[in-house]
Amino acid sequence: MDRSRLIPVQRAAIATLALALAAAACAPAPSTPAASAPASAWPGDAALVDLTHPFDAHTLVWPTSEPFRLEKVFDGTTPGGWHYASNTVHTTEHGGTHLDAPIHFAAGRQTADQVPLTRLVGPAVVVDVTESASRDADYLVTVEDVTRWESQHGVIERGARVLLRTGWSSRWPDAVRYLGTASRGEAGVAQLHFPGLHPDAARFLVEQRGVGAVGIDTASLDRGQSTTFEAHRILAAADVPGFENLANLDRLPSRGALLMALPMKVGGGSGGPLRAVALVPRR
Ligand SMILES: [Zn+2]
Repeated sequence: MDRSRLIPVQRAAIATLALALAAAACAPAPSTPAASAPASAWPGDAALVDLTHPFDAHTLVWPTSEPFRLEKVFDGTTPGGWHYASNTVHTTEHGGTHLDAPIHFAAGRQTADQVPLTRLVGPAVVVDVTESASRDADYLVTVEDVTRWESQHGVIERGARVLLRTGWSSRWPDAVRYLGTASRGEAGVAQLHFPGLHPDAARFLVEQRGVGAVGIDTASLDRGQSTTFEAHRILAAADVPGFENLANLDRLPSRGALLMALPMKVGGGSGGPLRAVALVPRR
């Protein structure tokens, strides 16, 4: 566990983002409004990965939540002869890929609009527990999983965003395989089965590592069978936001990705729909 390795890695990730932003800023203005930015606006050594499931009729939500719904307001030709489309979006804060603001499980803590951008954007590490999770749908990510990862990749730096990869996103949007049940309501809640974060590991990440945020590719940071939501409560009490139902974590390196997890800025919200992407250096 060589702490000296952390600085260059973090610096490299930030340098990659800075390069990308600079390249985008320096790209010549499109000659016509219809022209899209050329792919070359991004540096050749970085790729963008979408970590977000689509919001549509297939979006999985908690059994007690209203499903996501797109209500058409208008779609067609106006009396004036031009095309016009507009919808109203109906969504729970906690369905699909979303943010858990600290106030979700800790009174008086930050709401969605108060979560600092510095927690939402920055270097991310990916702790892979797919093998253990594949054998146990109720698997809990342990302190040992984290320290074993650190023995291979170096200590998790303060402020890092820790993304837990269980492999569950490959089951999306099959409710039975992803949530453990397609039943709705309280009966459905009792039948939830998917992996989550052990409370001891949540405490370790907060107290020993001072992480900036924690994300997971399942419906909740606490496993489906949790009834006490301890991981949520530990993270929230420390103002550490959560990201849930993340996608494509298999496309991120263990270290070196730059996460941009930007939720809808809901005033007073306990969370909200999240568009999460990562900038990944090509090696
Ligand atoms: Zn949530």
